[in-house]
Amino acid sequence: MILDSHPQNLEKAVRAVQRGQLVAMPTETVYGLAANALSDEAVVKIFEVKGRPRFNPLIVHVPSLQDILSFAELPSCYEHFAKAFWPGPVTLVLKRRKEASLSLLVTAGLETVAVRIPHHPEALNLLKAVGLPLAAPSANKSGKVSPTTSTHVRDAFTEQEVAYVLEGGACEIGVESTILDLSLKEPTLLRPGGLSVEEMEAFLGKKIKQPQMFSHINAPGQLESHYAPSLPVRLNALNLQEGEMLLGFGSVETDFNLSKSGNLREAAANLFKMLRQLDEVKNIKRIAVSPIPEEGLGRAINDRLRRAAAPREGLSG
Ligand code: AMP
Ligand code: MG
Repeated sequence: MILDSHPQNLEKAVRAVQRGQLVAMPTETVYGLAANALSDEAVVKIFEVKGRPRFNPLIVHVPSLQDILSFAELPSCYEHFAKAFWPGPVTLVLKRRKEASLSLLVTAGLETVAVRIPHHPEALNLLKAVGLPLAAPSANKSGKVSPTTSTHVRDAFTEQEVAYVLEGGACEIGVESTILDLSLKEPTLLRPGGLSVEEMEAFLGKKIKQPQMFSHINAPGQLESHYAPSLPVRLNALNLQEGEMLLGFGSVETDFNLSKSGNLREAAANLFKMLRQLDEVKNIKRIAVSPIPEEGLGRAINDRLRRAAAPREGLSG
């Protein structure tokens, strides 16, 4: 059931989470599948309903910095950074406190924990009302495109699997959060996403370490398939081959243009929605994608597209 923002509906969602059920919540990045992060029984349902082949660690969502300090250590030199970008589309990987009562499944047995304070008012309302940290990966079946509307979520899961979907409109950002690891010697980018590396570097006044993977635009074979539409995907397409439909960017003619004006923010918000729409188009064999600049949000868009184009093995996400 999709619940609109009414206090009684919020109460329903809160009780469901407290009973150990899954509730989908809107965030500014994508819709998340939320479970009580203190409960192994609740968290295991996430892996079960997503059909995730592996227990990879999940992002823990809380409504305030104060809530994080009970289970993670935020180095004091990054407090100003956290305050500047939270609530917002960045996830920080921090040292997990020994006494943390988080489910071990949430952190997949690691000594670190990934945390985020989302910006979306419905997510913040739920987090504050439920009074528990919520583990929440994207609310899609493993390997499929992340959901950016409530109907994407409702269509993917039964009501036995996901008790409620909180309505929050179309996600403003539309790609997952940036993941920055602060548990290492140097701040390290683990996933490009909704907050650009350039913005973080400008704030920190230094370079963020980036694993090679993100700069090799032509090495999709090395990447795990993830965020995949059903149709195959061809990147950096300058022209159309037989049986292809174009997912465009900039001034190209197509029914599916991420942003005619070449605006990366608009493109990110349209990405998953258009991949889904293209999947529905009859009689096409492949999705061809225009080149997208590797800067700002373009890094996150290209990262998702490279995964969508990668061979379909070992799906996760
Ligand atoms: P998703 O489940 O789609 O929201 O993606 C969560 C991402 O966060 C995955 O790429 C995880 O590998 C990453 N992640 C979560 N916790 C940690 C952690 N403790 N250390 C490193 N990466 C993490
Ligand atoms: Mg995911």
